[in-house]
Amino acid sequence: MAFYRVTFNEKHRFATVYNYGCTFHCPFCSYKLRSGAGGRPGLAYPAPRHFLSDEEIRTVLRTLPIDQLFFMGGEPTVAPSLPALLHFARQELGVRTKLGHTNGSLLPLPCLDAANVGFKAWSETLHRELTGHSKSLIYDNFSRAFDAGIKLSANMVFVPGLVDLEELLGLAGFLAKLDRNIPFHIMGCIPVPGQPFRRPTEAEMTAVENAVRTLLPQVRSSRLSPEDALTLSGRDDRFQVRVIAGEPLPFSSVQENSHSG
Ligand code: SF4
Repeated sequence: MAFYRVTFNEKHRFATVYNYGCTFHCPFCSYKLRSGAGGRPGLAYPAPRHFLSDEEIRTVLRTLPIDQLFFMGGEPTVAPSLPALLHFARQELGVRTKLGHTNGSLLPLPCLDAANVGFKAWSETLHRELTGHSKSLIYDNFSRAFDAGIKLSANMVFVPGLVDLEELLGLAGFLAKLDRNIPFHIMGCIPVPGQPFRRPTEAEMTAVENAVRTLLPQVRSSRLSPEDALTLSGRDDRFQVRVIAGEPLPFSSVQENSHSG
């Protein structure tokens, strides 16, 4: 559970620091696209051969012309050095900081400007079933991060037959009570090896998006195939990054869209 790679997107002037490992075990986790049927972030896909020290990360970040620093990878808040790197980014680099995706377990954090939180379910039973944790931890943390002034966006994976419309509407209602303008991304389930969950149809996506829009105007949706998810860098220049430190890992194209927290 530590950072192992730094990438740089020259066009959009941001760097990303990647963590290895996660505290949840969502059955539809898109990391399984690469790691296979038993894949769980931090457990089943191979660990990096080398982790980066704080000083290695700071040294490369000082060389980059960036405006924003992202933290990604499984669950980035489990990396012990995250608080110190957030402080470094804010105080020394003077850049904006964002958790590109997080499951919300450790929000809010000092020196954090923004976070994209991936909710797994609205109902307590399903949340426990999917993640092994109570939903109150995540929802309460989100509220506290909102109160702390962190710029928040949210997402949930729409899994037909498992995480259905009532889960999406429950979350949308929760978000709307905080602020109707919180951006909300509905991600269609990406089928992964060893799991029975299917991709929603276009009609199903349209129906849930329209229903959620009645509560939250800033809603969008995506419906990626496994192939789409693995080739995002060819279609979206935000994913066209250069590895600056650490080893390449074939997950960069999947993380933001399929996990997102
Ligand atoms: S979907 Fe996200 S929170 Fe769930 S196991 Fe995968 S990386 Fe962790």
